Amino acid sequence: MKKSRNKTDLIGLALGLFVAVAFFGSLINQATYGRLFAPKVEASASAVTLTGTGAGMDGDVLVEVVADAEKIYSVRVLDHNETPGIGTVAVEQIPDAIVQANSILVDAVTGATVTADAIKEAVRSALTSGGFDPAVFEVEVQDEGPVQRTPETLKCDVVIVGAGGAGLTAAIQAKQDGADVLVLEKMPMVGGNSLKATGGMNAAGTKFQEALGITDSGVQEFIEDTMNGGHQLNDIELVTAMAEQSSDAVDWLAELGAALPKVAATGGTVHKYLHEPEDGSAVGSFLVEKLNETCEKMDIPILLNTEATELIMDGDAAVGVKAQDKEHDYTIQAKAVILATGGFGANYDMMTQYNPALAGAVTTNHAGATGDGINMAVAVGADTVDMEQIQLHPTVYQKTGLLVSESVRSMGGILVNAEGKRFTNDMSTRDAVSNAELEQTGSYAYIIFDQRIVDDLSSTQKYINSGLTVQADTYEDLAKAMGLEGDAVQNFVATMDTWNAAVASGEDAEFGRNNGMDEDLSTAPYYAIQIAPGIHHTMGGLKINTDSEVLTTQGAAIPGLFAAGEVTGGVHGGNRIGGNAVCDFVVFGRIAGAGAAAYAAGK
Ligand code: ADP
Repeated sequence: MKKSRNKTDLIGLALGLFVAVAFFGSLINQATYGRLFAPKVEASASAVTLTGTGAGMDGDVLVEVVADAEKIYSVRVLDHNETPGIGTVAVEQIPDAIVQANSILVDAVTGATVTADAIKEAVRSALTSGGFDPAVFEVEVQDEGPVQRTPETLKCDVVIVGAGGAGLTAAIQAKQDGADVLVLEKMPMVGGNSLKATGGMNAAGTKFQEALGITDSGVQEFIEDTMNGGHQLNDIELVTAMAEQSSDAVDWLAELGAALPKVAATGGTVHKYLHEPEDGSAVGSFLVEKLNETCEKMDIPILLNTEATELIMDGDAAVGVKAQDKEHDYTIQAKAVILATGGFGANYDMMTQYNPALAGAVTTNHAGATGDGINMAVAVGADTVDMEQIQLHPTVYQKTGLLVSESVRSMGGILVNAEGKRFTNDMSTRDAVSNAELEQTGSYAYIIFDQRIVDDLSSTQKYINSGLTVQADTYEDLAKAMGLEGDAVQNFVATMDTWNAAVASGEDAEFGRNNGMDEDLSTAPYYAIQIAPGIHHTMGGLKINTDSEVLTTQGAAIPGLFAAGEVTGGVHGGNRIGGNAVCDFVVFGRIAGAGAAAYAAGK
């Protein structure tokens, strides 16, 4: 690897690899990848061992290739820092596929394209370094022709469509309540958008708040902040149910080994509800890993690469789904169905139907966020709500759609514009900050943070490793590294001094920011990332009641049909506050799981 690593880095790397291996190992057990390892083929006498690198999500991917001028005998990934559960799926699948096809032009892994491309690039560079002509290994992989799928019928009490946060939660709860469950996931990995959640989980009245002496951030404040953040468009009954059951949900997670003991403020509120993992890791990968491990321990089957296509109805009741993978056409007969398919933030046709201005915007969403559950339920008479409410997140790195966590600001980071000046209350709601950014020169801004934040927030290391950041030891040099020129350089220095003084006095006279001001930005080196708004969350979706039952356009619950998470609408209204997606999927995932299990038991 090009970058040098210090001791802390190495410990982090070791832990990261451990987590990746443990997490990926748990995925393999449930995967429907088919054969995982290529049969060993003896290399020819002229074969040589070569190494090469390709740029991955988080630094270089290093591969070792054994090849001669005509054949690739083996490919091994020796070192990488790819995202556990996403990039690691490509790390597992692509080397074998390249050897099988004797070609670099194998299909990417859906949802993990960057890592797949990095491995292919690394193999190409290894072959070139050995003096081989890479064109020999760039043969188009033959299409397997029309697929013959075998019809297959599966039976269970509760079928759960989607293995993101909501689906995994619902599956565990339903199984805990005695149901025989089956989970379908159309991607080659679990986790969906939930896996990408960077901040924490909002919850009120928790034992962790109590332990930290936080007494001003209870259920009532949580409801008010969520309603205010959502511009009062939210369904107050759903918000109340979420807030009231949030503390129980935090306890339930802790019992599964997924404690969230750190508590901070989230954007758009002064109250402290945002519950985070102890080690500062991103909440999404932390929870998905724990939930997935729990599913494995509980023998909950998850069929990966299996896409649900339609609901099966018996009269007005949902009694299963049709689904397919590469080899099967499934008819899944169930007593109850839970839709946990997430939102539609990667479906531009659907988004632009509701907001044409989003056509050119970058999205932070994973490729599977295509609104399938909404469409399947609408086809059987379900109602939707707030479909036009699509959230922009203000701190998205535009080249890759990578989201810079809100935690960077809640820990004291600030935003400045191309003139080197702050321009808004950086901790206001996501829509307000996004709109303010769009009014700046070039419609972008920089997020500024310092070494203290890097030390306390491990996710920032990823931004540095992937080359998103510029850094310097003085404010002036940072301004220059950001590309600021002329007056903007001194403006930036003055902005930083003013901000540090505001933190010292506890008062932001310029923009009235009143949270995330515990510490200043005076620990060199200093960092900046150029960011702009990106599509983040589809607040609208299926209309549900507080029992997670899907409602028809006449307001009646569809028997046997439940939904939870981003596939639903109403919880977040016109703007979701950071930390509420996770709370939404845990609370309503549990409600849907329990409701579906109880309904199935009565059948
Ligand atoms: P939530 O936060 O609501 O759980 P996520 O985006 O985290 O939402 O998870 C939704 C999951 O549902 C994703 O993993 C996605 O790939 C999966 N999914 C979406 N549509 C289908 C479908 N038609 N069949 C199976 N899985 C699906």
